[in-house]
Amino acid sequence: MASSRNGAVNVQVILRCRPLSKEEVANGTHQVITCNERAREVTVSHNVGGKQLGRSFHFDKVFDPDSGQAKLYRMAIKPIVEEVLEGFNCTIFAYGQTGTGKTYTMEGGPRNSGEGSSGELSDEAGVIPRAIHQIFSILDENDAEYTVKCSFLELYNEETTDLLAVGDAVDQKLKMLEDNGRVVVQGLEEIIVKNKVDIYALLDRGSAKRRTAETLLNKQSSRSHSVFCVTVHMREVSAEGEEVIKTGKLYLVDLAGSENVNRSGAVDARAKEAGLINKSLLTLGRVITALVEKSPHVPYRDSKLTRLLRDSLGGRTKTCVIATIAPTVQCQEETLSTLDYAHRAKNIRNRPEVPTTPVL
Ligand code: ADP
Ligand code: MG
Repeated sequence: MASSRNGAVNVQVILRCRPLSKEEVANGTHQVITCNERAREVTVSHNVGGKQLGRSFHFDKVFDPDSGQAKLYRMAIKPIVEEVLEGFNCTIFAYGQTGTGKTYTMEGGPRNSGEGSSGELSDEAGVIPRAIHQIFSILDENDAEYTVKCSFLELYNEETTDLLAVGDAVDQKLKMLEDNGRVVVQGLEEIIVKNKVDIYALLDRGSAKRRTAETLLNKQSSRSHSVFCVTVHMREVSAEGEEVIKTGKLYLVDLAGSENVNRSGAVDARAKEAGLINKSLLTLGRVITALVEKSPHVPYRDSKLTRLLRDSLGGRTKTCVIATIAPTVQCQEETLSTLDYAHRAKNIRNRPEVPTTPVL
């Protein structure tokens, strides 16, 4: 991460291109994306008036379609999780068109039943289970005194649902309140995770609830955002013998499909007509624009997502965006839009701080 003298850090932006699906291979789908991992460059080729042209973009890291989950984690996410255990707040967003691999990247591919019971990660496990594994490995190695808590919520149509609540009606809505300048979600379940195996039960519970709600309430998962949060409290004794609690937080955000947002981050006119405005995604785009342009007013308060993640955007958090794209010619327009958006996000600067709380 590029860091300047005053401690400001740019948002880290990573690009991941998914492989062709079996159907796309069978149909002989034309590919328009070339990834050069070493040069950290991605090129979109397009045909203009019979001429083959290419547009290239640079990112902090680029992962080609052959890069698996373990590699992406090791190279891009592992250092971030180490910082969480040093007491930083970190946020990882997955941004991209529906069907490009946001959920695959965050949660992982389909799991075999019984997987996880042995505590082993499968090749297709995503960022969430891998992060939990790493957190427990480090904490156990250090023989630290700690608690690890997780919450999992969904934002749909500016309404907040707890994906981990049990027994309640699936559509129970939670309120967001401001407490001492911090946004809290009232009544959100925070589940204590004791070991790395527990995480699979939580993920299953969350995904099952997301699916049920989708069917019952006629929702579309492509229009909802999910926010998985891990909080780690660590008890430590300082050099002066004073006991302190160090807290690190990791937000893992699977954003709604970006297909209704145009290249400048504004809502697309066609999407507007079809009533497909996603206020949170739109506001995220406006917040990014305001931060990049250093405008005096940043419209954090205009959506639930940006209120909740305010600190991750130009605040005191370390932030990483994983932009996901598909290699196909059919997705070309959307891909260019994702690349433009992600490239702009590279210019946001945050000022990460480690808050320490003395034990009372
Ligand atoms: P999104 O959440 O962005 O809508 P998904 O994560 O559901 O997209 O991915 C769409 C499909 O592509 C899924 O079947 C998923 O398993 C597959 N897929 C996505 N990314 C990859 C990848 N990097 N490697 C293998 N399969 C992938
Ligand atoms: Mg998804």
